[in-house]
Amino acid sequence: MTPHSVTLDLAGRTALVTGAASGIGRACALRLAASGATVRAVDRDTEGLEKLVSGAPADARLEAVTLDLTDLDGAERVAEGCDVLVNNAGLQVVRPLQEFPTDAFHTILTVMLEAPFRLIRGALPGMYQRGWGRVVNISSVHGLRASAYKAAYVAAKHGLEGLSKTTALEGAAHGVTANCVCPAYVRTPLVERQIADQSRVHGIPEDRVVSEVMLADSALKRLVEPEEVAEAVAYLCTGPAGAITGTSLPLDGGWTAH
Ligand code: NAD
Repeated sequence: MTPHSVTLDLAGRTALVTGAASGIGRACALRLAASGATVRAVDRDTEGLEKLVSGAPADARLEAVTLDLTDLDGAERVAEGCDVLVNNAGLQVVRPLQEFPTDAFHTILTVMLEAPFRLIRGALPGMYQRGWGRVVNISSVHGLRASAYKAAYVAAKHGLEGLSKTTALEGAAHGVTANCVCPAYVRTPLVERQIADQSRVHGIPEDRVVSEVMLADSALKRLVEPEEVAEAVAYLCTGPAGAITGTSLPLDGGWTAH
């Protein structure tokens, strides 16, 4: 467990985290709750949300909301009244372009780009009214660089980078910042689930996928921990980070230094 290195007081604030039942979203929900925020934890996985709430410290204010983010009107409504919005929910499909399932492409773009747009749309009026807000978009190194066989994911993340910058430009006059956090491979179920697919498309055994595919472009030869991503998110929510907007913060072990 990465210790908290950021001093953050969000008492009286409401933070919404999508995809909060697992991985990075779970770490962000717990981190923001530890700062005193009331956290609206949104996911389609009810069981995962129950585990998040039951495993959290007793004083954590966590409100679990089961919602499938392909329900775009629901996504916009659930964001009303939040002060911090962490757009995190995501999924991955690894296939060559000519075989890429068209329905999967559509779902990935809906959940990872159109839903964030609708969540931001729902959140901004309240943030503007209160003159303060933080939008943190969990992008990826794949928002900045492409990899083969990830057409939908790379397209969605590059789109999210643009949405984030536009939010920054419009929000600045209202005390709202918007930034992307761009991790390389993080130790989460999303990564564990793609090892078999990566092994197939790259034609190598599963036990070589992490070192030969996932860490190939990273100078740092280890996975990122979800708590490290959550700490970067926490920093972007602080007062002293108020001048940081429209940026992308890579936690990529040097991948984009190439
Ligand atoms: P994860 O699979 O552990 O968690 C993703 C969560 O999103 C799950 O709880 C899932 O139920 C939820 N979700 C998916 N589709 C949904 C939908 N339609 N409606 C509501 N909830 C939905 O994945 P993770 O690794 O924690 O990924 C979180 C985010 O971080 C994603 O946006 C991902 O692209 C990004 N990211 C992950 C990595 C990595 O290596 N794990 C690297 C860079 C960026």
